[in-house]
Amino acid sequence: MTIVTETSNPTATDNQHLARIKLKKNEEKRLKGGHCWVYSNEVDTQVTPLTGFEPGQQVVVEDSKGKPVGVAYVNPQSLITGRIMSRDANCVISESLLTHRLKIALSLREKCFDDQCYRWVYGESDGLPGLVVDRFGDYVVVQLNTAGMDVLADQVIAAITKVISPAGILFRNDSSARKQEGLPLTVNIAAGEWPDQLNLVENGVKFVVPAKEGQKTGWFYDHRENRQYLARWVKGKRVLDVFSYVGGWGVQAAVAGADEVLCVDSSELALDYVEKNAALNGVVEKVGTMKGNAFDCLSQLAQEREKFDVIVIDPPAFIKRKKDFKNGLTAYRRLNELAMRLLTRDGLLVSASCSMHLPNDALLDLIRGAGRHVDRQVQIVHQGGQGADHPVHPSIVETQYLKSIFARVLPSF
Ligand code: SAH
Repeated sequence: MTIVTETSNPTATDNQHLARIKLKKNEEKRLKGGHCWVYSNEVDTQVTPLTGFEPGQQVVVEDSKGKPVGVAYVNPQSLITGRIMSRDANCVISESLLTHRLKIALSLREKCFDDQCYRWVYGESDGLPGLVVDRFGDYVVVQLNTAGMDVLADQVIAAITKVISPAGILFRNDSSARKQEGLPLTVNIAAGEWPDQLNLVENGVKFVVPAKEGQKTGWFYDHRENRQYLARWVKGKRVLDVFSYVGGWGVQAAVAGADEVLCVDSSELALDYVEKNAALNGVVEKVGTMKGNAFDCLSQLAQEREKFDVIVIDPPAFIKRKKDFKNGLTAYRRLNELAMRLLTRDGLLVSASCSMHLPNDALLDLIRGAGRHVDRQVQIVHQGGQGADHPVHPSIVETQYLKSIFARVLPSF
């Protein structure tokens, strides 16, 4: 008689056929602490040479004594050689596992948001390393950022289809992360049909975004709560939204009662969409645009003696890699100073940064320094991070990247 016992994972089978990757002595500690990355220098390459593996291949990771630590996929070409998908060494990385994880991720978003507009999957934090899925109602935009996820492309499509049967799935496989993994950069419709523009609702405000040629996946859901928080500060005010993209901050500020909003961006396409979004929400007469390099535009506005009550600076990441730190910091500092000079006597500066390598404290210090430099008194009134659809993995500091500091800027005390 065989006794069937229930396991924690319904898809559990024997993974005997999978290749092994053996770690050096004590290198399992971080993984045991909850992290899911295996770096190349942690692998005992004497026993398990990395050259023997295909990018994306699935393996069982073992500690130096041969005890299984979990199931992972690997990419010998990447510094992050392995990413653990399950701590159950018998777990099979399959469509059914992906479906299960997608459902767990979906239930978080459904708890938090009324509209079906959110980051549905945020990689490692949702137990799906290398996968990003942004949802725009019936349409989803997917990034397969690692070789392991790239290999699973068909299963990802099948699992997403099983969970929400979307009208269309777009692969935005043109992220810089893919370059580091040695993967080709492509954008293609993976399933269904694809519209010219995508609709979304955020904090009750409607937006359209370019469906294929937008920034990243088309929208930055991570600032949702910060944009909502700003609403209380803008009634009757003059607002400047720098690096506006399609008006995420600016148009919401106009809807929240700002008198006038100016959106600055270097992209004509982005500013066309600012206008569309202003029209969509009946605030077209309040929202203006200015095309150009943000640094030049801010200097020009200062020369013209323009003043704003509220200024949002939400630039692209200036510190993409550690080695960019010094130059990036200088750019952030310059921007914050330029913005402070444009603020009215009692103004609000929203200074955001999505650079993971810039700690919150460093941004705070930079705002302090900028205030001293332009002889203004700064009061930090609020500090925001990323929304719940970008949950932080407590073992993986890299998953916490977004900062949004709200600073009241007064004449010097
Ligand atoms: N604040 C936006 C997101 C910014 S994305 C939001 O909340 O949705 C970065 C934007 O900065 C892009 O639209 C890009 O076109 C613009 N950009 C990048 N470099 C720039 C520069 N030097 N000057 C002005 N805009 C720039």
